[in-house]
Amino acid sequence: MDPFSHKARKRFGQNFLSDPGIIQRIVSSIAPREDDNIVEIGPGKGAITALLLEACPKLNVVELDRDLIPILLAQFAVFKDFKIHQADALKFDFASLAEDKPLRIVGNLPYNISTPLIFHLLSYHGKVQDMHFMLQKEVVERMAAVPGQKSYGRLGIMVQYYCQVENLFLVPPECFQPQPKVDSAIVRLRPFQELPYPAKDVKLLERVVNVAFQQRRKTLRNGLKQLANSEQLDALKTDISVRAENLSVEQFVALSDELLDLGVKI
Ligand code: SAH
Repeated sequence: MDPFSHKARKRFGQNFLSDPGIIQRIVSSIAPREDDNIVEIGPGKGAITALLLEACPKLNVVELDRDLIPILLAQFAVFKDFKIHQADALKFDFASLAEDKPLRIVGNLPYNISTPLIFHLLSYHGKVQDMHFMLQKEVVERMAAVPGQKSYGRLGIMVQYYCQVENLFLVPPECFQPQPKVDSAIVRLRPFQELPYPAKDVKLLERVVNVAFQQRRKTLRNGLKQLANSEQLDALKTDISVRAENLSVEQFVALSDELLDLGVKI
């Protein structure tokens, strides 16, 4: 048996890229440079890693599956500055890798943890230059959605609060081994150097967005009852007789700030 054979594991969300053209296209979009500070999440068997290393020999990767570590080590042994962190990316302290230079984060992410992982990574926005992710197509659409669209909601608002979002291109199931049941897409996120609409309390903003979209068919007022009494709601300047999906990121920030000023706490 091939000592490096590895059976893809569903619970780790393993769908390995196998199409050289797509791998090349992804890495071209990232455009790695020699002195970049890149960290790849979930390198798997190294499909993207190999091309990243060609351009940028100092590379950190975070991989959860222990069985993949010897495969990666053997394949990339010649790269002295290639460092594998066997860890759960959901708990990994990315700031520890960003001491000298802002990070460029890359990953064909496990789809089952993509939303919590994105929220975890957003907490490092000040230390990140950009992020390129492969995600389920619908998740990328939610990230890039604008008010009024069906896919507009909590994920899009919180991602757009911190980052500029670009939906780059689609990747069909045939590009993977084993093939996922869904279409995928590549997204580029560039954290703003300065937030365009900084909230006075971002935790409250998250909470407001959360309750607002719990019942997306009802008016904002309905959802906000969880957070504020009717006196406070009556005092708002923001029109809360509309649905959550009609408010822009800027308007959500204004609403959250107003609620804070009226004494609402999380
Ligand atoms: N980048 C590779 C593999 C993609 S599959 C390719 O494109 O071929 C997703 C990868 O994420 C797998 O290697 C899986 O083991 C890893 N992974 C899954 N959950 C993880 C977690 N919580 N933290 C870090 N890596 C994880």
